[in-house]
Amino acid sequence: MHRSGAVMAWNVFKFCTALRGLGSIMILLVLGVVGVTYYAVVITNYVPALYDGGLDSITALAVLILFHGLLVMLLWSYFSVVLTDPGSVPPNWRPTLDEERGENDPLTGIEFGAAGAGLQQSAMLPDPANPRFRYCRKCNQLKPPRCHHCSVCGRCVLKMDHHCVWVVNCVGALNYKYFLLFLFYTFLETTLVTLSLLPHFIAFFSDGEIPGTPGTLATTFLTFVLNLAFALSVMGFLIMHISLVAANTTTIEAYEKKTTPKWRYDLGRKKNFEQVFGTDKRYWFIPAYSEEDLRRMPALQGLEYPSNPVLDAQEY
Ligand SMILES: [Zn+2]
Ligand SMILES: [Zn+2]
Repeated sequence: MHRSGAVMAWNVFKFCTALRGLGSIMILLVLGVVGVTYYAVVITNYVPALYDGGLDSITALAVLILFHGLLVMLLWSYFSVVLTDPGSVPPNWRPTLDEERGENDPLTGIEFGAAGAGLQQSAMLPDPANPRFRYCRKCNQLKPPRCHHCSVCGRCVLKMDHHCVWVVNCVGALNYKYFLLFLFYTFLETTLVTLSLLPHFIAFFSDGEIPGTPGTLATTFLTFVLNLAFALSVMGFLIMHISLVAANTTTIEAYEKKTTPKWRYDLGRKKNFEQVFGTDKRYWFIPAYSEEDLRRMPALQGLEYPSNPVLDAQEY
């Protein structure tokens, strides 16, 4: 029994190490797909089409402008997810008093009622009466609300959504918006590429003579199939995440709360959206937040989250 447990732990460790090792390869893979797509769309097909004259030139110009604009947004979002720390627990983190809940909060009564020396010690222990505060045995620290331990990163991540191999990073409180924008722009870009290469793809199956060398034709064919596959799979992922944002849940929480119909962080669709994207409309489509939002919204720091007062009143 003990032995099989050790073997399993070893396998999980190996799996996590493998995922970590995959890191830079995945970034190269993403850049490789972008490079092949750029070659097929821009260099092989649409820059030459600029010189065709008439409507073809105008279409080619429109495709090229849109393609480059989306590519900039896609790469900006991508590297923002890769390079932004999803959020770690500050050393010796302690839950703060929730002013709105005041005396009625069981935490206030049990853990913080006794001031002085006992406070620090009692705050270190998870309170079984209060499921909001959990303890991570691996990191030896209290977990802030909505925080989870990632076995690939080997640490606790604030509002962890999932560990994403494509971005070689955890997706959590501080980079979830960037991840969603990456999905959004990837969907738009791959759809644009699929549609713009569709006439060339259909031409493969026609009887007429197709211009181009076997090399460029093969690249166009491969790019079309790759981008179609990405567009379809990213679309499914995007739809799933839109419903998660609308309900103010993470992938992990959605899995965990299957049995609880009422979710305490559900503030209504608009506010749920703002909890991830901020309140400033000018920042909704770029991987950044306004200074004002960062200052005013605790959710963007990843340690505290406003909850629905109606659902809270029912809970306690
Ligand atoms: Zn942990
Ligand atoms: Zn992770």
